[in-house]
Amino acid sequence: MAPQFPSIQSFFQVKSSPSSKEHQPPSSSPSATPAGDGFSTEEVDAVLHPTIDSSWTPTQEYEEQEIGELDAGPRCVTFIGRVVNLYDQATPSKAPKAAKGCIKLIVADNTGALTVRLWYANMDYKLHLGQLISVWTPHLSYGENGTLAPSSAPLFTSIFPERDRNCHFKSHENSDEGVQCKKPIGYKKGQPLPGLMTLQNFIDGGYDVADGKILVCVKSIGARTKVENKRGTTERINIGLFDDTAEATLTLWGSTTASAVPWRPSHTVLLITNPGWRIDRRAWISVTANTHVDVDPLITDAIWLRSFAQRLTKRDHVNPPFPDGVFDTEAAESSQVRILYRLADIDEFARAAPKEKFMGFLSIIIMDLHIVTNFKRNMLMCTECCGVPLYANAVTAKCKQCEKYQPLRINPRILGTLADETGALAQGKVLFSDAAWEQLLGRSAFQLVSSSAEVLRYLEQRLLFLRVSLCFGWSLYEEGGEEVGRLCVWGVRV
Ligand SMILES: [Zn+2]
Repeated sequence: MAPQFPSIQSFFQVKSSPSSKEHQPPSSSPSATPAGDGFSTEEVDAVLHPTIDSSWTPTQEYEEQEIGELDAGPRCVTFIGRVVNLYDQATPSKAPKAAKGCIKLIVADNTGALTVRLWYANMDYKLHLGQLISVWTPHLSYGENGTLAPSSAPLFTSIFPERDRNCHFKSHENSDEGVQCKKPIGYKKGQPLPGLMTLQNFIDGGYDVADGKILVCVKSIGARTKVENKRGTTERINIGLFDDTAEATLTLWGSTTASAVPWRPSHTVLLITNPGWRIDRRAWISVTANTHVDVDPLITDAIWLRSFAQRLTKRDHVNPPFPDGVFDTEAAESSQVRILYRLADIDEFARAAPKEKFMGFLSIIIMDLHIVTNFKRNMLMCTECCGVPLYANAVTAKCKQCEKYQPLRINPRILGTLADETGALAQGKVLFSDAAWEQLLGRSAFQLVSSSAEVLRYLEQRLLFLRVSLCFGWSLYEEGGEEVGRLCVWGVRV
């Protein structure tokens, strides 16, 4: 059977004219095309509203190569990489067929980097740092003196896909799974990245190191502002950066500012090679022609820095839910063996075998209570909704963010320090189940919030310095992997 060739129509797109019959102004209008000037509507349209045809069928073989393998000379090659530097230079011209500008890109994969001079006329290439792109080109050259290509990527190709059908440019917007070309040049697993230093070391003189690298996490993303300069107005954005040693500000200019749109504070990690810098009272980082920026590189140090950043932002839940199904309380209740722990034993056990789950009993004294104080502050019960703590002297309360009613649990901070002969548990750090609260307070949550201040004062006095037995369980993680890491009290024997 003959191979399926596309029909002739697939090579010619049906172009719809914006000035079709429905939209055509009346012939008396001065903007209407005078009838009979010799040009058809299609011909006029093609000049006034050029359609950008981004489809491309290569006419010859292009050899797929890694960037590190590429060399200068006339040869049809194709390569894939990520944008690590971009600079858009407008070249205003009145000539209708001339390019309107050139975007200078540095594209890198795991093996090397090269400069792409991408000329454009009508195409609006929406490019950003970290973008995965493919280039097809028939020629590569070496830039001399850093004029056509920066010294960090001297090999370059100059392409004008809109005019030259031998070259093509494609950005992988939807097909980018975030894995390809994510390792920086020179990275070997298990080995430190050459030239990588902490931000503090960079500030303290490391900026003099050739090919010095800093690995930083985005802390904040400023607003895009317009700045006047000699060449007109340009956009600027300041990005707060940090690692575990210091902080800095990265300034992005012009078309590079769009790169920061998908970045997320405390999540996005940037590996910046050869950063531009200015150090006064704080460190100012910039992207120069030789700078490479790897966005979220797949390296162990980046994973560590991101988890470091997340730990910093993680705030304790005001009232974490009691972990259901983690502890077999029925078995513990009926067990013949009842182990009485002291607080020091628990500390020792948890440190020696952090992944071990264990259950037992504790005999502690309640050193102070804050029932009346929390009652007066309208904070006897609490929970969190929409990331915001929610307090009330009621069993439910309305979240101010989502306007939904949420069930509240007893505020763990009504209990102060709990101590035995070997140690103490800080205020609010123990997780009580609803049943344990009821056993301790001798009343349900609803009865607690319905009580008068007088009754609560009496309750507080009765519980103060009382020795109680706590049935507890300890586990670092829930079944699903959620962190518990607290003493969980499922029963109280007063
Ligand atoms: Zn809410």
